[in-house]
Amino acid sequence: MKYNFNVPPYAEKSMEYIKECVVNQKICGDGAYTVKCNEWFEKRTGTAKCLLTTSCTHATELAALLADISEGDEVIMPAYTFVSTADAFVLRGAIPVFVDIRPDTMNIDEKLIEAAVTDRTRAIVPVHYAGIACEMDTIMDIAARHKLKVIEDAAQGVMSAYKGRSLGTIGDFGCYSFHETKNYSMGEGGALLIRNEEDIENAEIIREKGTNRSKYFRGQIDKYTWVNYGSSYLPSDLNAAYLYAQLEIAEEINSARIECWSRYYENLTPLMESGHLELPTVPEGCVHNAHMFYIKAADMEERTALINFLKANDILSVFHYIPLHTAPAGKKFGRFHGEDRYTTRESERLARLPMYYGLKPEDVDYICDKVKEFYK
Ligand SMILES: *Cc1c(COP(=O)(O)O)cnc(C)c1O
Repeated sequence: MKYNFNVPPYAEKSMEYIKECVVNQKICGDGAYTVKCNEWFEKRTGTAKCLLTTSCTHATELAALLADISEGDEVIMPAYTFVSTADAFVLRGAIPVFVDIRPDTMNIDEKLIEAAVTDRTRAIVPVHYAGIACEMDTIMDIAARHKLKVIEDAAQGVMSAYKGRSLGTIGDFGCYSFHETKNYSMGEGGALLIRNEEDIENAEIIREKGTNRSKYFRGQIDKYTWVNYGSSYLPSDLNAAYLYAQLEIAEEINSARIECWSRYYENLTPLMESGHLELPTVPEGCVHNAHMFYIKAADMEERTALINFLKANDILSVFHYIPLHTAPAGKKFGRFHGEDRYTTRESERLARLPMYYGLKPEDVDYICDKVKEFYK
């Protein structure tokens, strides 16, 4: 394929940093590069604490443990999301309660959340689709009134903001992904962002097999011991070294992506104006990170034809989530609250166009020309 859908980000310094880890035989978890990454995110986002994890899935599992989610609890989330959003809570015996999305952003419809709250509800999990923020003021207000935790699935939202605040820092916990399909990558990896100081110590303990090893490393205690339940959610410093090189050039990566996103938007605006397709909406107050550029065809049939036409022209475009409530596990573990007006219908018409660091403006022009040709 000439125009891949995704090419993992790479920064030249990665090789040098990884080599340094190998030569110094410092490759286990919580080494120098993990600390550098954590501090970079704390500075950039203003969160109280960032902890690198082995994936966003694991960051969400950690958040579910910290939020004390247990058997029979209900957790409100959109059905239009990746399986991990639900898995982390299902593992605790909780029930995912799916709420319909807004067609303009594909994010959970904040106006439908409150009606789904019951006396078993413990948390809301907004997913910032395509790095474009959910309506967080409304969500935080509902959470405050019903005493619910908010765990942001900001897997796609690194470097995005809502009313001046970084995504992942607004709720009690925020989860980032550094999978190779995301804007910044360490192969497999993620991070947990913690808003409240009082959650930090317990997070460090659960992430380190239920021990107070982090405190020991800081010299706060002279031996470490088993103090709580826990697991192992810390990545090798090799992965962190790979990521850190990208963080050093994060502004450059971000602006290159934004340039491509804006060019797609400009090129395809005439097709939107003529009613052929729909383009993403960025609500006021949202600064996004160009994680994804998607278009919406009239229906699934037209989308399939478009994807096939692009493929014949060496362009890989792909659809996205099959709504979780229609999947076997979704039916088994969760339920949809209210009416599925948009989740299925909108997911069936959405196609994502190539988007990665290294995609050139002229590539975007070529891809847009082919989309225009399809609609001619
Ligand atoms: C990528 C992604 C995840 C999972 O991230 P991993 O790091 O692969 O675990 C979870 N939620 C959303 C919305 C994602 O896009």
